[in-house]
Amino acid sequence: MPIFAHPEFDGHQEVVFGHDPQCGLSAIIAIHNTNRGPALGGCRMWPYASEAEALTDVLRLARGMTYKSALADLPLGGGKAVIIGDPHEDKSEALFLAMGRFVDGLGGRYITAEDVGVSVEDVDVMARVTKHVAGTDSTGAGDPSPSTAYGVLMGIRAAVAHKLGRNSLDGVRVAIQGVGHVGYHLCRYLAEAGAELTVTDIDHEAIERAATEFHARPVAPEAIYGVDGEVFAPCALGAVINDDTIARLKAPIVAGSANNQLAEPRHGVELMRRGVLYAPDYVINAGGVINISHEGPAYDKRAAVDHVAKIHDTLREIFGRADAAHVPTSEAADRLAEERFTKVHAAA
Ligand code: NAD
Repeated sequence: MPIFAHPEFDGHQEVVFGHDPQCGLSAIIAIHNTNRGPALGGCRMWPYASEAEALTDVLRLARGMTYKSALADLPLGGGKAVIIGDPHEDKSEALFLAMGRFVDGLGGRYITAEDVGVSVEDVDVMARVTKHVAGTDSTGAGDPSPSTAYGVLMGIRAAVAHKLGRNSLDGVRVAIQGVGHVGYHLCRYLAEAGAELTVTDIDHEAIERAATEFHARPVAPEAIYGVDGEVFAPCALGAVINDDTIARLKAPIVAGSANNQLAEPRHGVELMRRGVLYAPDYVINAGGVINISHEGPAYDKRAAVDHVAKIHDTLREIFGRADAAHVPTSEAADRLAEERFTKVHAAA
């Protein structure tokens, strides 16, 4: 299994393998870049079909965290951990204590957190043997979803101002795909701002709640792409901007919380070609991680909220750069992130 010649290898600073046969731990931690600070990224537990698959995932996710932290203006770098195992069958206290010791062995160069398959309770177990954890009940910032939703609201404001020249969301029509944790809070913020909402979900109760509380118009899941309006806000799944959906989109703006919205990078090019403004997912959905970065005994809610609100200005800069260089916004975002994490390095 090559590492340095791996297609997802991107100059990662460290790739470390952890193994404890007694509790069944097989894990990989990848630290992509620490120029801006310690590498923060969640710990994922997944029944990977092979070690190669786990390596591919951890390299890709660690790199993504470097870009996300840089554009969120955090004093943090990017890293990620994966545990190879089935979260429904293979979890134990001993496993997470061993994982915590593995994290601790990196001396703070990597800070772990929850992710797919790893709960806040699991992170709390790791926290018993390492202080290099974030986003747990004991460290205090709580559910990240309201902060993520607030960041998405700021991103929608930036996109509406850039694309439509409107500085208010009053009367702006937004179609929200998925009204779960983030989508629900986003509905609340948008309704307060006077936006007109259309919502969908595969969970009928979630739709009912949004329809009742925010006077949102419910539609069937497949109908959401073709809704007439100004903004399509994907807040459910990844890869929703693909060959099939792109032709059905009526909104001139795509701005929502879902991770990995573009099925492939070429869909970012296609959105640009069609005149659709795309708010890159990893920029607009950073509110939760920004809030977590403020946690601790001196947590200042006002400072955290102000920091999340900066997503607005970062996106305006990205949109302006993309227009000037005639490149997709996703590409402009990557270039700005690279400037931010390599400049620090140059200055050091
Ligand atoms: P969630 O599971 O609480 O909500 C997702 C909602 O989407 C659920 O109500 C689900 O029923 C619905 N859904 C699933 N498939 C659907 C479909 N085909 N059509 C319509 N609705 C569908 O998750 P969440 O925490 O609200 O996160 C939403 C998205 O935002 C995810 O992609 C997540 O990775 C991303 N994100 C979340 C946060 C956060 O703070 N929670 C931070 C960054 C990114």
